[in-house]
Amino acid sequence: MTTTTDTDLRHWVPGVRDLTIDGNAVPGAGSEIEAVNPATEQVTATVAAASVAQVDEAVAAARRAFPAWAAASPAERSAALNRLADLMERHSERLAAAIVNEVGTPIAFAEIMQVRLGISHLRWQAEAALHDRTVDLGEWPDPVPTRSEVAYRPAGVVACITGYNYPLNLAIFKFGAALAAGCTVVLLPSPRTPLTTLWLGELFREAEIPAGVINVVLGGPEVGQHLTSHPLVDRVSFTGSDAIGAKIMKQAAAGLKGVTLELGGKSPNILLPGVDAAGLAKDIHLRWARNGGQGCAALARLLVHESLVDEFLGASKEAFTALKVGDPWDRSVNIGPMIRPDHRARVQSYIDGALADGGEIVLSLDTPVPDRGYFVNPVVIGGLPHSARAVQEEIFGPVAVLVPFADEDEAVRLANDTAYGLAANVFTPDVAHGRALAARLRSGTVWVNGGGNMRPDAPFGGFGRSGVGREIGEWGIREYLEVQHVQWRV
Ligand code: NAD
Repeated sequence: MTTTTDTDLRHWVPGVRDLTIDGNAVPGAGSEIEAVNPATEQVTATVAAASVAQVDEAVAAARRAFPAWAAASPAERSAALNRLADLMERHSERLAAAIVNEVGTPIAFAEIMQVRLGISHLRWQAEAALHDRTVDLGEWPDPVPTRSEVAYRPAGVVACITGYNYPLNLAIFKFGAALAAGCTVVLLPSPRTPLTTLWLGELFREAEIPAGVINVVLGGPEVGQHLTSHPLVDRVSFTGSDAIGAKIMKQAAAGLKGVTLELGGKSPNILLPGVDAAGLAKDIHLRWARNGGQGCAALARLLVHESLVDEFLGASKEAFTALKVGDPWDRSVNIGPMIRPDHRARVQSYIDGALADGGEIVLSLDTPVPDRGYFVNPVVIGGLPHSARAVQEEIFGPVAVLVPFADEDEAVRLANDTAYGLAANVFTPDVAHGRALAARLRSGTVWVNGGGNMRPDAPFGGFGRSGVGREIGEWGIREYLEVQHVQWRV
C-alpha cells in the first residue's frame, strides 16, 4: 500500500475543471478564471466560469429534481449524505491539500477545522435528515372544533454562495442542511477558490446523489447576481462580506426570496479582572491570528481590563513569538498568506490607516515574511480611538487592536459598539458570571473562557451586520424548510 505524504501533496490541486449540471460534468462556457496558490503566487489551474445559459440550466435541473428529492424518504436523503461523507473521509488527505494549495491555510488547521469538522457536520446533517419535525397542536374548540398539526416542507431550490476562506465547510454548512431538508441546490464557490468545490461536484456524482439535486457552477459577481435573482430559485444562502450580503439581499428582494446571510465580524475578546492574563496571552494571539486572521469570528478586538494591560502585554511579547508566518505546509507555521495581493494591500492599508489615526504598534513580529506569497506579519495596534476604522471594520488579516477598559459596563458598551455581532469571548474567573454577561452582548455566539470548537448541533450566525438567519444544527436545517399549518375538523 502506498501512502501519500505532505511532500507529494504540496503542489497537488484537484484535477476537476468541469462544472456539475444535472448530474453531468460540463466544461464551463464563460470567462476564464485563474486559480492561484497564494503561498507561492503560482497559477495552479485555469478554469472556465459558467455562462449565463449554464446557470439557467443548473437552476432548471435543480427545479426538475426538486419534487422527487423533496418526496424521497428521509432514509434515502440521509444515505446519500452519508455516502458523500464516506467519500470525503476516503479523500480527506487530498481535500486538506486542495484547501492548503488554494487558500494558503496551514495544513494542520485545514485538516482539523476544514476537513474533519466539515465531515462531522455532514454526518450530523445525515442524521438530522431522518427527523420528523411535525408538531401536533391538538384541538381548538372555537368557532368549530378542529385539530391542527404543523409540518415542515422543503423550501425548494437553494442558491448557495460561499466565501473563500473555508471553501469546504462553508459549502457543507449550506448544501448539507439544504439536502437534508429536501431542497435542491446550485452551489457557487468564490472565484478565488474554485478548485475544491469543482472537485466536490465530482464527489456528488460519485456518491450517486440524483442528477440535478446538487449542481456546481462557477463565476464572479455577474454569475452570483444572475443566480440570486433567478425566478426559479426559492432561497439564497450566502457566506461572505456584509457589503456583498447587502447586495444579495437586494437582488433576492425582487423575487421575495428568503435569505440566509453569514457575514463578517469584528469580534471582541474580553479579559475581566482576576484572570491570568499572562497565562492566556499565547492562546489569545494564536486564536485571532489563525488562518492569517481570515476568519469571520476572529477575536481581533482585545478588550483588556486596565489593571491587566501591563501583565498581558508583557507576556504577549514572548507569546507573540509563537506566531510563525510562512509556508502553510510547514507544520510549525500557523499564519499563511492573504488570499490575493489586493487583499494584502487592503490589510496593509488598515495598518497604515491605524497609525495615521494615532495608533501605535504594541506587538509585532520581527522575522521577515517570505519573499514569495502574499504574507503579512501579524501586529497588535493600541492607542486608537474607538471610532477608528481599524477598531470598527473587519480587516480580515493578522491585525488585532488592543482596547483597555475601566469597568465591566464599559467593556460591554465597547464590545457592542461596532456594526457587527458575530462572536464574543469573555475570560472570567467566574463561569456563571460569564454566562450571565452573555445576555448583555449583542453577539450570535458567546464563548466563556475560550469556549470550544464549532458544534454540528449549535447555531452559528450574527446580530447586526454579521448576518440574517442561522446556519448549523437544527436552526440551519430550518432555514431550508417552510412551515405549513394543516387544520382539519373533528
Ligand atoms: P465576498 O463578499 O467578497 O464574496 C463572497 C462571494 O460572493 C464570492 O463567491 C463572490 O463571487 C460572490 N459575489 C460577489 N458579488 C456578488 C453579487 N453581486 N451577487 C452574488 N454573489 C456575489 O467574501 P469573501 O472575501 O470571499 O469572504 C470573506 C468574508 O466572508 C468576510 O467578510 C468574512 O467575515 C465572511 N465570512 C463569514 C462567515 C460566517 O459564517 N458569518 C464565515 C466565513 C466568512
